[in-house]
Amino acid sequence: MLRYATRLARPVLRNTVSSSRSFSTTRLAASQVTSLHTFTEEEEMLRDAVRRFANDVVGPRVREMDENEMMDPVVIKGLFEQGLMGIETSAELGGSDSSFTSAIIAIEELAKVDPSVSVMCDVHNTLVNTVFRTYGSKEQQEKYLPQLSENKLGSFCLSEPASGSDAFALQARAVKDGDHWVLNGSKMWITNSYEAEVFLVFANIDPSKGYRGITCFIVERDMGIKIAKKEQKLGIRASSTCTLDFDDVRVPAENVLGGEGKGYKIAIEILNEGRIGIAAQMVGLAQGAFDKSVPYTFQRKQFGKAIGEFQGMQFQQAEAAIEIEAARLLTYNAARRKEEGNSFAKEAAMAKYYSSVVAQKVAGSAIEWAGGVGFTRETGIEKFWRDSKIGAIYEGTSNIQLQTIAKFIQKEYS
Ligand SMILES: Cc1cc2nc3c(=O)[nH]c(=O)nc-3n(C[C@H](O)[C@H](O)[C@H](O)COP(=O)(O)OP(=O)(O)OC[C@H]3O[C@@H](n4cnc5c(N)ncnc54)[C@H](O)[C@@H]3O)c2cc1C
Repeated sequence: MLRYATRLARPVLRNTVSSSRSFSTTRLAASQVTSLHTFTEEEEMLRDAVRRFANDVVGPRVREMDENEMMDPVVIKGLFEQGLMGIETSAELGGSDSSFTSAIIAIEELAKVDPSVSVMCDVHNTLVNTVFRTYGSKEQQEKYLPQLSENKLGSFCLSEPASGSDAFALQARAVKDGDHWVLNGSKMWITNSYEAEVFLVFANIDPSKGYRGITCFIVERDMGIKIAKKEQKLGIRASSTCTLDFDDVRVPAENVLGGEGKGYKIAIEILNEGRIGIAAQMVGLAQGAFDKSVPYTFQRKQFGKAIGEFQGMQFQQAEAAIEIEAARLLTYNAARRKEEGNSFAKEAAMAKYYSSVVAQKVAGSAIEWAGGVGFTRETGIEKFWRDSKIGAIYEGTSNIQLQTIAKFIQKEYS
């Protein structure tokens, strides 16, 4: 069992500015010259371990899980056993006590093999665990974080049938009844919800206050959550996406997370961070498609030579490699900014937007590079393209990311 129990040190920083340059009067501080590809030893170890897990355990199951539209329990168990379901949770609470960038690395590596497994890990870590770690009371953290690190899967329930991009127009209601809250309403599109046991549910306790009535509740499956529908999707088919019904679900008063009326703030802040996770998923996906298709182009011969030796093919592959790297750097930059306590909402939106564009483009090209073979389900290349479509939709559509970026531009320039 691999665990990463030590808090990660700051990346090793090297000052590369030459002191002999007489025209320069200022030297960059050491902290300014770190490459975005500089990782701590533990982050590198984590990358290697996740890569092995993805290739050995996830890889052989990808096609079957996609065709069955079901996550293999062996994979879920493996994610917990590898310490990948409590990446930033402290060791005292059963987690791996690692950095946010470690979570991003894990999400990226899993997506290279299966974006469905990647999003399971992503939602559980960057949304559910992070809400508990950031806003949960000591009692809530001590009760739930060990379970969420050990064996219980989490879901984040914000969207509803009538509220998607306009998430805070949600209709779910909670009414106080003695020492309980009674929840009613429906949540739609909830990732992990078929297998999850712990749900963070956003409901309004006082619609007269508008979004200031939105409150986050910790709801356990056996409190009465019903699965109304399991979606059949184009991509990430092994990742469960369900509509959940809440009919008079009684939730103990102590399960309000972060305070009454604080749900709006929690959701906004957490989704900014979660978007970096989706960006990492899309970077991994693009790389996975590239890695599957390019070797084929050096095996397949047409007109007497490998198709990968034609300049028309080489230039497309070179451009794809540039775009993947640019998306990766945007993602790592947003992750490090968040980790170091800098503003990151604009950078996260840029990373998510661009990575989803690149994932779709590269996965589409990867099919074409492999010709007819790429169009079959046997190679798994087409699956990356199907999976890529979701990057422009969840955790804020591409238009919503552009809107976020545009707001920053307006603030800066008007
Ligand atoms: C597979 C999957 C998993 C998901 N997982 C979760 C989850 O775990 N938890 C959760 O809470 N939600 C989840 N979601 C919901 C997801 O976040 C929403 O689907 C997303 O926010 C978009 O909402 P919508 O589908 O209602 O689309 P809509 O909001 O109806 O948008 C439709 C189109 O209109 C555009 N549009 C909307 N408003 C504007 C505007 N102001 N300006 C310009 N264009 C606009 C959008 O960009 C989009 O192109 C998931 C969705 C899917 C498909």
